Amino acid sequence: MKKDVIVLNCGSSSVKFAIINAETGEAGLSGMAESLGNQDASLSYKIDGKKNTLALPEKAGHTEALNAIQSVIAQTGVVPIAIGHRVVHGGEKFKQAALVDETVLAAIEEYASMAPLHNMANLKGITTAQKAYPNLPHVAVFDTSFFQTIPKKAFVYALPMALYKEHGIRRYGFHGTSHKFILDSTAAQLNKSVEDTSIISAHLGNGCSVSAIEKGQAVDTSLGFTPLEGLVMGTRCGDLDPSLPGTLQRKLGKTAEEINDLLNKQSGLLGISELSNDCRTLEEAALNGHEGALLAIEIFCYRLAKYISGYMIAVPTLDAIVFTGGIGENSSLIRETTMGYFKHFGVAIDEQRNLDARFGNAGEISAPSSSTKVLVVPTNEEWVIAAQAAQFA
Ligand code: ADP
Repeated sequence: MKKDVIVLNCGSSSVKFAIINAETGEAGLSGMAESLGNQDASLSYKIDGKKNTLALPEKAGHTEALNAIQSVIAQTGVVPIAIGHRVVHGGEKFKQAALVDETVLAAIEEYASMAPLHNMANLKGITTAQKAYPNLPHVAVFDTSFFQTIPKKAFVYALPMALYKEHGIRRYGFHGTSHKFILDSTAAQLNKSVEDTSIISAHLGNGCSVSAIEKGQAVDTSLGFTPLEGLVMGTRCGDLDPSLPGTLQRKLGKTAEEINDLLNKQSGLLGISELSNDCRTLEEAALNGHEGALLAIEIFCYRLAKYISGYMIAVPTLDAIVFTGGIGENSSLIRETTMGYFKHFGVAIDEQRNLDARFGNAGEISAPSSSTKVLVVPTNEEWVIAAQAAQFA
């Protein structure tokens, strides 16, 4: 029997969807409804490599989008066995995926206070999809679950403890499905059991995070209470002096929301370069000597190297440093510049292997003499969601 699972990722104005074979990870169909709530709402999808685009009714919302997605799925003749929903915040309650029932829905809503945009959209996606597919198991797969093994010394902020105890203020971590996939994939590649595999994984996409994973368990991660902490990202600032948001509010006469927007949407690679959040654009500009692009890449790699080296103390049995995500899987420049900081740790990148590991080619990029292996492993978050959802079918 084919184990086809519908994977849904509902954002505030978009729905990403795919049909994934839970055993092989193959995507028979994938697509996205965008600009929901706007005049130009549309649905684009790919079946067996062929692209299609449909206009949705003006101001179509999640319900119209999911109806259209349902008819596209029906046309494929696939009989799905479950629906896996990406949910951003699972608080401390969800250490793994959960079959959606009233209690799970209530908890997702409760955690919306910590990730308002994400969790409310995820919730809307689940309840709408439940109406469309009332007979299938709906499974919530949380971005935060993988990090529930992180010890207190890594997740408690140096704030009054009451803030953690009474308000749940702590590091939660995000991108958990990706880091979990990278762990499993690396273990298979190294011919080791997952429980015996230790890595530092760098997920570098528009959002970026590094995780320390010791013997199959997450022990630290760079994203925090929200997905703003840690590395420099496309438009997010990552680590800052915590007094800055207040100072900026006063200096610029802006509201807390406006400063939050500045830190999330106008900072990072975009803010530093004053050019783009897109790493490809920055690399091209850097080649032509664009100072902002050069500086943005330099800061990005330096911060990343600091995090990776910091996590070496959290991963004493380190097997490999692993790069993934759009940047991690494709940018030989970012990998080479970052790993260049590790020469005195005995880590060495093989120039040709690093250049070869791009555009879908992956594998080891370290030199045989390197003290630690460095790998490029393509991520597949949808497969993790499908595989976890299939367990409830
Ligand atoms: P998301 O977090 O939205 O899933 P992706 O994982 O697709 O994002 O990563 C997007 C980032 O990957 C962008 O900064 C993009 O420029 C970068 N990227 C994609 N291909 C390349 C490439 N060939 N060289 C450098 N960067 C790349």
